[in-house]
Amino acid sequence: MNNQLPLVRLSQGQLNLLKVCPRKFQHIYLEQLGTHVSPEQQEHLTWGSRFHLVMQQRELGLPVESLVGEDAQLQHWVNALVNAAPEILTKVPQTFRESEHCRTLSFQGYLLTVIYDLLIEDKHCAQILDWKTYPQPKNRQRLAQDWQTRLYLYILAETSDYLPEQISMSYWFVKSQSGPQSLKFPYSQLQHEQTRQDLTQQLIRLTQWRQRYQAGEQFPQVEVSTGRCHDCNFAIRCQRNSEGSMTNNKDSLLNLADIPEVSL
Ligand code: SF4
Repeated sequence: MNNQLPLVRLSQGQLNLLKVCPRKFQHIYLEQLGTHVSPEQQEHLTWGSRFHLVMQQRELGLPVESLVGEDAQLQHWVNALVNAAPEILTKVPQTFRESEHCRTLSFQGYLLTVIYDLLIEDKHCAQILDWKTYPQPKNRQRLAQDWQTRLYLYILAETSDYLPEQISMSYWFVKSQSGPQSLKFPYSQLQHEQTRQDLTQQLIRLTQWRQRYQAGEQFPQVEVSTGRCHDCNFAIRCQRNSEGSMTNNKDSLLNLADIPEVSL
């Protein structure tokens, strides 16, 4: 079906973007149009990258002093996480552990790619850990439906000998007010089958949109009624700026929680 199309690597961030608005995916990934990032967001992204790097160095048993430097806040949150999660940050014999663990899965003509902040495996189970440098979101269900949760669990089940029931994913929200907090998502065969179906449908649609795009047709736009256009950077390009909301600079910024700390 998609013989003429080149193999495309897809991350959870791209799947989430397709869910938000296919046209936005077209603008960002096919046309490589940039989105506006505020200085505040840039600072957050840089801090998040440094935090991930420190955690990776620590996992490798390498010194972190030069990375932490004078940043007392960074040191504070790394210590807070280590104290809050000794069961995952203390090495136990006969377990496999790897930070920034990358896996890919060929699926429907796409290379689905994930990077786990930390993967811990033993004889009985496998845990995926992900560090988030923003406070814990209130809506657990939304996170359960996020492609990061779904794709990360799906790919591990597909590329290992573990049953879905032996796999889990935990987010650690490092900068929560009362100290680092975690949310754990168990997995099941039922969820695995549902994700396979949803992924299949989404990728069939994406392939069709890409084929039509090659023939000169644009990706579909999200419905106006969703309200997603008024704070989108592409509202003018999409002729969806009739309410003049682009003048509200605060609203035109991306939601911090929607920005991946480590993008693929
Ligand atoms: S303005 Fe609306 S339709 Fe256009 S890319 Fe943004 S969200 Fe999608």
